[in-house]
Amino acid sequence: MSENTDLYDLAAQRLTEYMKGKNIRKTPERFEILRIICRTPGIFNIDKLQELMEENAKFQVSRVTLFNTLKLFEDASLVIKHTLSRAAHYECCVMPHPMVCLVCQKCGTVRKLESSKIENWLSEQKCKQFVITQPVLYFHGLCRSCMVKNSIRNRKAKTKTKTKIKRNEERKS
Ligand SMILES: [Zn+2]
Repeated sequence: MSENTDLYDLAAQRLTEYMKGKNIRKTPERFEILRIICRTPGIFNIDKLQELMEENAKFQVSRVTLFNTLKLFEDASLVIKHTLSRAAHYECCVMPHPMVCLVCQKCGTVRKLESSKIENWLSEQKCKQFVITQPVLYFHGLCRSCMVKNSIRNRKAKTKTKTKIKRNEERKS
């Protein structure tokens, strides 16, 4: 994990301005959470963030504080919340970048698809009477491990049916 000081400086400045405008108290906890998020590449959920805080943060905060702070960061356009079927996933978006996410409809994991072709296409998109602040494209499907589990289950189901048919035939004869 690399320390991205420039990104953090920019994010901290934005957070300070946002809190000043909304009359929200500046707490060291909020800035520490922001620091951890700025050095976290890619998508994370609340469990992962809690783990990163435990490993790297100067002080610990409760899960409720993490949730509330993420909501604040979302409002301040510092993180993007990926609204998906299962647990929410977040990502630092101080410097918005077009992205393609692969969402497993079975286990809920989210990962990024590295495709400069689609990313370029996304960055060129313009809408009438709508300002795109964060171009994100979601592909829903099955991840590798869920696909493997599925095929094992299908194979078992097939064997079961075959045995049933065989038993019925034996009974008839
Ligand atoms: Zn899956």
